Amino acid sequence: MPNSHSRSTSLRLDGRLPADVAQAVSLLQQGGIGGIPTETVYGLAADAFQPRAVARVFEAKQRPAFDPLIVHLPDPAWLPRVAREVSSLARQLAGRFWPGPLTLVLPRQTTVPDLVTSGLDSVAVRIPAHPLARELIAQVGSPLAAPSANLFGRISPTTVQHVLDQLEDRIDFVLDGGPCRVGVESTVLQVEPEGLRLLRPGGTTVEEITAVFPEVAWLDPLASPGHNLPQVAPGLLTQHYAPRTPLELVDPANLGDRVRDWSGSHPHTQLGLLRWQKTPATRDEPAGTNTYTEWLTTTGDWKGAAARLFACLRRLDESQSELILAERVPETGLGRAINDRLRRAAARTE
Ligand code: AMP
Ligand code: MG
Repeated sequence: MPNSHSRSTSLRLDGRLPADVAQAVSLLQQGGIGGIPTETVYGLAADAFQPRAVARVFEAKQRPAFDPLIVHLPDPAWLPRVAREVSSLARQLAGRFWPGPLTLVLPRQTTVPDLVTSGLDSVAVRIPAHPLARELIAQVGSPLAAPSANLFGRISPTTVQHVLDQLEDRIDFVLDGGPCRVGVESTVLQVEPEGLRLLRPGGTTVEEITAVFPEVAWLDPLASPGHNLPQVAPGLLTQHYAPRTPLELVDPANLGDRVRDWSGSHPHTQLGLLRWQKTPATRDEPAGTNTYTEWLTTTGDWKGAAARLFACLRRLDESQSELILAERVPETGLGRAINDRLRRAAARTE
């Protein structure tokens, strides 16, 4: 009889249903690609050292090849497989924040396939905090290259269902690790001798890093010498994380006016609202309009808000609203990552 550690025999291997760890290991070793849980968002993983498998990831996501992938490890002891140099600052950051939502950009080993790094001389690495992800990578025996498991530019997935919705026909499996605890992507830091460049705000906050390393210098991410920006930080691409419905980012002070304006000129259409905190004071404002509202939090808890962000955006996208107005959240802690994703969702041009 099956026990909790047994390999289920009832699951199909054709990618239509979630897999168990043993199936995922075997598929990845054979060059397969699939959705894997991490604490940030679901990843679309391939063995980083099988370029054909990595190419399938780019193809499945329709991701441009200039946008490099994060390489995931189960243990810091694996770092030399992908990074040729790990500075003392990088080691300290890893020691304090791994496993967790922090990606370090380090000098690469030449053996890492060019497709993974988009030909850059650096490689982005992290150790995910999700135990299933680490167990999987350790059992595969090779680092996994994994971008978020969504179509390029679209909303990142925080549940297995989100992965299946966008990629079901293009992948070999999905491993179910439950809803993602953090819900926004990792913070990406380029570690340089002079300090750190914040290439993408994410699940590890600048405040947390500064609290542990108060002396560290923060370098301007836009002033990275000799680099073309999209290559240094594809996370800085202006259009990203976007719902299909147009989205506008609005300051809380202007929200009421913007809703009234829009509703006045679109009397018979629904407006989607992504609001920050639901309180007795905010809950009934703006009133009297045809709106569908998602609230990020009732308590002001940043972690809960970040974890809900992408699911809220998805529901808004499905709400038949003509436009989504997203209220800018306070620009502090995880608010930086939330505003960053909303800015990019708003920058969508198609
Ligand atoms: P995604 O996995 O879709 O969340 O995107 C991966 C992110 O990792 C990109 O947006 C980049 O910011 C970052 N990244 C990956 N490799 C590198 C690299 N070699 N240098 C700088 N950033 C990188
Ligand atoms: Mg992504």
